[in-house]
Amino acid sequence: MPLWFVRGLRRGVVTTRYPDRSEMSARDLPTPPAFRPGALTGEIADGLVAICPSRALTREGGTLIFDVGACTACGRCGEYAPGAVTASGEFELAAARRSGLVKRIGLGAEVTR
Ligand code: SF4
Repeated sequence: MPLWFVRGLRRGVVTTRYPDRSEMSARDLPTPPAFRPGALTGEIADGLVAICPSRALTREGGTLIFDVGACTACGRCGEYAPGAVTASGEFELAAARRSGLVKRIGLGAEVTR
């Protein structure tokens, strides 16, 4: 029987808070990008779509669509447009629905979701 199970029975703990403590290695992890809508132009958005190897980015008119579920956090978009793209630092990306992983970013405006 796993030791953590026996320890939980002894303490009467059924569940624990998450996260138990902050993950110190998180800052070193490659994470999906965060986009600065105000710095995104149509030209930059088209360039980002073209360089993304996993097709996580598409453009629909004045909106950049970012599929976080397809992103491999390769960092190419950040290298291409460092003024418009930064690392998000987010690695806990679970969503109840697939559509929850798709972000709609208005070019030169606010995130439209
Ligand atoms: S990090 Fe890589 S896979 Fe993710 S959106 Fe940017 S270019 Fe695409």
